[in-house]
Amino acid sequence: MAPVLRFAPSPTGRIHIGNGRTAILNWLYARKNGGKFVLRYDDTDVERSKVEFAEGIAVDLDWLGITPDRVEYQSKRFAAYDAAAERLKATGRLYPCYETADELERRRKRQLARHQPPVYDRAALKLSDAERKALEAEGRKPHWRFKLEHRIVEWTDLIRGPQHIDTTNLSDPVLVREDGTYLYTLPSVVDDIDFGITHVIRGEDHVVNTAVQIEIFEALAGTVPSFAHHSLLTGADGQGLSKRLGSLAIAALRDEGLEAMAVVSHAALLGTSDSIHPCIDYRELIDGCDLGKLSRAPARFDDNELRGLNARLLHMLPYEAVKTRLTRGDEAFWLAVRGNLTLFADVGAWWTIVAGDITPVIAGEDRDFIATAAQLLPPSPWSSETWKTWTEAVKAKTGRKGKALFMPLRLALTGLDHGPELALLLPLIGHDRAAARLTANP
Ligand code: GLU
Repeated sequence: MAPVLRFAPSPTGRIHIGNGRTAILNWLYARKNGGKFVLRYDDTDVERSKVEFAEGIAVDLDWLGITPDRVEYQSKRFAAYDAAAERLKATGRLYPCYETADELERRRKRQLARHQPPVYDRAALKLSDAERKALEAEGRKPHWRFKLEHRIVEWTDLIRGPQHIDTTNLSDPVLVREDGTYLYTLPSVVDDIDFGITHVIRGEDHVVNTAVQIEIFEALAGTVPSFAHHSLLTGADGQGLSKRLGSLAIAALRDEGLEAMAVVSHAALLGTSDSIHPCIDYRELIDGCDLGKLSRAPARFDDNELRGLNARLLHMLPYEAVKTRLTRGDEAFWLAVRGNLTLFADVGAWWTIVAGDITPVIAGEDRDFIATAAQLLPPSPWSSETWKTWTEAVKAKTGRKGKALFMPLRLALTGLDHGPELALLLPLIGHDRAAARLTANP
């Protein structure tokens, strides 16, 4: 059976490298196994969910090269959640509770003082009909808790291996608030059942949720999907990324000028047994996709490593991959400069050095040498051999060699002491411009 996966962001903000990684892992798994990828907006929190964020998330995923096969909004599916809630009420698995937040908090403190686990004591289950009516007459509205089975829930996690969670140690989770709104737990299960989700790949912060949700799947007689919980990202210092997520938004990384495939390669390979290396497109990542390669240890996200990876990716990108983005220059230009790029936008500066106005740098003690070199410039047309022919002639005439020969030429031709190979750059600069730079009087 072809797998069906989903990525389920809450549109209360944009996605960042952490949940972007979850999206990528789901996408790779779907593509590797000929499956489908559902984008599900978890927007039951109508106050905090914003259309702009949902639209932004779609843009971010598109930039990452992820194109969902299906898009769903939880906010359009309340009827399905109501029906599921009614079914659970009918079987006694969803029960009304009337405690206020203050009452619950006091009860919790008492339990802690007695060294008891702060688990909801199910007092509401003991209420008689008359007591419930009396509470409602006081104006109290119920919130609804799911009655856990208090058993060991087991599953074989595709990343973490065999899992056993004893739901006796958990409070019966609130699924529906006083005002009738849903927390995430039930809608997610209803959707996973209705959309035929076969695999749930998500962060390990959901492991306990999974035990609860498996009980809900079973209570609704739905098929329990396979679960894979990946470890969360930490910064290079081992600390959580939560404070820095703004600057690690996918949109921020894009605006900084990073390549989508650098972000994708980094996110996909981080925390796996594969080395982190740049992949030009998804093909290699899809072929190599295997959840078994993901480590249970937290994956360290290092900004510098991402930037380094971005440069390594640019250095290997063929002209075909960039030609629609290059506004100036041809294949020879791209091949000459790509090895010197950190960000794609750096091509602009190299274009200026090839074809624009630069200030040649000619030191006083090199003036005669540069004047001689200018006289020895070979006539056009120039090729990748021209640099060699020319510098051999300059060497023979002046007796200079090595750095004393090459560095003054580079400084005069480009104004910089570093840059792409001059054998490649010189024919792009061309005879007339080179002659003008060498005879400039800076
Ligand atoms: N909206 C949830 C989150 O972002 C989805 C979790 C899930 O994948 O089930 O944490």
